[in-house]
Amino acid sequence: MMEKRFILDLTLPEWEEYIKEKGLPKFRASQIYSWLSKGVIDVEKMTNLPKTIHAALKEDFITESMSVERHLESRIDGTQKFVFRLYDGHLIETVLMRYKTGLSICISSQAGCKMGCRFCASAHAGFGRSLTSGEMLGQVLLAGAFAGERIHSVVVMGIGEPFDNYDALIGFLKLANDEKGLNLGARHITVSTCGLVPQMIQFSKIDMQVNLSVSLHAPNDELRKSIMPIANRYSLGELLDACREYEKNTNRRITFEYSLFDGVNDTPECARELCKVLHGIHCHINLIAANEFDGSPFHRSRPESVRAFQDLLTKNGMTVTLRREMGTDIMAACGQLRRGIKEKEET
Ligand code: SF4
Repeated sequence: MMEKRFILDLTLPEWEEYIKEKGLPKFRASQIYSWLSKGVIDVEKMTNLPKTIHAALKEDFITESMSVERHLESRIDGTQKFVFRLYDGHLIETVLMRYKTGLSICISSQAGCKMGCRFCASAHAGFGRSLTSGEMLGQVLLAGAFAGERIHSVVVMGIGEPFDNYDALIGFLKLANDEKGLNLGARHITVSTCGLVPQMIQFSKIDMQVNLSVSLHAPNDELRKSIMPIANRYSLGELLDACREYEKNTNRRITFEYSLFDGVNDTPECARELCKVLHGIHCHINLIAANEFDGSPFHRSRPESVRAFQDLLTKNGMTVTLRREMGTDIMAACGQLRRGIKEKEET
């Protein structure tokens, strides 16, 4: 027997195929797809469908909605954090932030992460499983429905390494970008990787104008290895070559994420070395005054170090921004809320 798929996983052509197999008229596929694209997953609420189709959908697909396990809203800036429980019990985090341009959402691509970055709470909470395309889309649809507003941009930067779940990621991008579905412009979507080189190159060849962001966090191999185990698999040289190839294939500017840790990677020497290694790459550097969590081996960089680091990069001609902190009263580090719930359940 075929394994059941989550109801949000299907593209419109796949719905048309399903409807054809069931011997139903083609327009039923568009009706189902239209409900799903509005975030209506409960088939009983698809009011223009007959009961027989409701029953078939329940029989053939996973229709249990992703339930909101926890919802927090910042009193400072209205940032909202959701912990969703998936149909099989796994937990994921999603964050909704308001910018001048509109609502931006940060979604998870996996329940947990295998990459083991030492500064990350998600790495400490273990790996559950990869999400399906529909579960990534579901975060956008459900959080949008919750906010009662259209989402303006998406970053795949929450829990998980998106390129470790490559096919589902591409499926999600196609679903999100589909003009008959969510219709989110590719330029409004950003995928963030810790640096899986082969997938970066593969990604540079897809025919979509999606933005790429790379977590760098160090200007040399030795330091990077002490922060991110992925640096043992791919050297900085290989990573930057992949970035150059991305630039060549897409003609797009890459963003480098650089979290600053006190006394570790926030020194003037690191800033100067960073300018040197990134020289010639069309890029933008996003500095982050890193969040700490219980058991974190690193501490947040001091404000004067952050300023000095930023100044040095700017003086050397780099394009730099300091990521604005959002929802500091509810957030803490990404993955921390999920980790807390998980630990409580396990004891
Ligand atoms: S920072 Fe990202 S890639 Fe690294 S462990 Fe955390 S979730 Fe995974």
